[in-house]
Amino acid sequence: MVVLDFILFIAAVLLIIGLRKLSHPDSASRGNTLAAIALALGVVVALIYPLETQNNNYLFIGIGILVGAIIGIISARKVAMTAMPEMVSLFNGFGGLSAGLISLVWLINNGSKGEGSDLGVVLFNLFLGLVAFSGSMIAYGKLSGKLKDEHLKIPFSTVVNILLLIVTLGAIFYFSYLGVLSTPELIAFLVISFIYGVVFVAPIGGADMPVVISTLNSLTGITAAVSGIITDNKLMLLGGVLVGSSGIILTLLMCKAMNRPLLSVIFGNFSSSKGEEKQVHGNAKEVTAADLAVQLAYSQRVCVVPGYGMAVAQAQKILKEVEEVLEDKDVEFKYAIHPVAGRMPGHMNVLLAEANVSYDKLLDLDDANNYLDTTDVAIIVGANDVVNPSALDDPASKIYGMPILNLAKTKNVVVLKRSMNPGYAGIQNPLFFKDNTKMLFGDAKKSIEHILRELKEV
Ligand code: NDP
Repeated sequence: MVVLDFILFIAAVLLIIGLRKLSHPDSASRGNTLAAIALALGVVVALIYPLETQNNNYLFIGIGILVGAIIGIISARKVAMTAMPEMVSLFNGFGGLSAGLISLVWLINNGSKGEGSDLGVVLFNLFLGLVAFSGSMIAYGKLSGKLKDEHLKIPFSTVVNILLLIVTLGAIFYFSYLGVLSTPELIAFLVISFIYGVVFVAPIGGADMPVVISTLNSLTGITAAVSGIITDNKLMLLGGVLVGSSGIILTLLMCKAMNRPLLSVIFGNFSSSKGEEKQVHGNAKEVTAADLAVQLAYSQRVCVVPGYGMAVAQAQKILKEVEEVLEDKDVEFKYAIHPVAGRMPGHMNVLLAEANVSYDKLLDLDDANNYLDTTDVAIIVGANDVVNPSALDDPASKIYGMPILNLAKTKNVVVLKRSMNPGYAGIQNPLFFKDNTKMLFGDAKKSIEHILRELKEV
């Protein structure tokens, strides 16, 4: 017992160090390995612990681990970098479900009875786990494009959302007071909790998804922590607290990035748009890779604004080569990072770190906006919503109020994308029609390869 507790202590320390290392790209890979070792130790200890107290079906557990490991390894190896956000959503959902199922097993083992606050805590955990699961499945559908906003229109969704929340929380207090619930009541509770997760995420569309995703992450963390209390597993409690609290911090940061109040996130449907969206008219002008290369070579300051399209094109490594060529020509080169660019928090940072772009070249929103005011050429690589000026000047726009990378004062803006199609929020972008903006159509990687070839000739 003492030995097992000691191993758990070591695992807890490794987990904390591992998570700490995740905060910087240079140490993130080592941090990931340390955290994985810590969790593996936690699983081993959890398997040995009950040996002394009760019979365990190790064959069943072994099959579960084997099947889970095979699915995990194959899907992690096969997943494309662009599908990573969907995979994270799926795994987050299953994490929430497993933690919720621990509560269900507790209820079955205890005949759905509990003393004091026990039953309330277990039901609350079941609720959170199911919400994290069904909400993450809807988020997965939205991120993968399988579910469109129009498929998920729920009439009076905010009212339904609040009613479901009142019913579930009321039920938790009521059954906790009674100290028991019947099987039909338990089934009804499961169904309502599941539906609440769907209603919570379904109406949130377009650019507001990052807040939902980080909220679901923190819900899974909290439910894992409560499951740690229920099963007296200290490592699970610690891991859950770390994920839950970092998820809450991330949610607050995302709310700030999207300029949305936290309460409106909890009650869903928090877009602040009013009236009818402005229509964009005009013709977009084009530029050739050769002309752009000359313009870049004679600039003093160049700033790249990466977005989801950079992830799709996998253009980060070739972009780094452009950075090196231009720096040899004494051009200052920076990257403007919007907190919700791409499809998951930190998406652009991960991609650029993979291409060995130095961390000090990445500017956060405020610094980037100051820098863009004095930039000669801004190259937008597959970004759209995060540079859409409608967020600033069109109260009817879905993204109104969201802080953006503002290119209004940048001397020249060049947009690398394949067409005039909108981005994730599904809205037009007036920036593409401005006087100082030119389009370079095509896959971003191919366009940058072309620019690089031309640059070497200048
Ligand atoms: P957007 O989704 O707004 O735009 C991406 C653009 O990339 C598209 O307009 C597309 O245009 C272009 N593109 C796609 N493939 C390529 C390619 N191969 N080469 C060149 N261009 C390409 O991305 P942003 O990063 O600007 O904004 C992110 C959006 O996603 C925001 O609305 C955000 O709220 C949302 N979101 C963010 C999450 C996060 O956590 N970061 C999570 C969920 C949603 P075209 O098809 O014409 O090439």
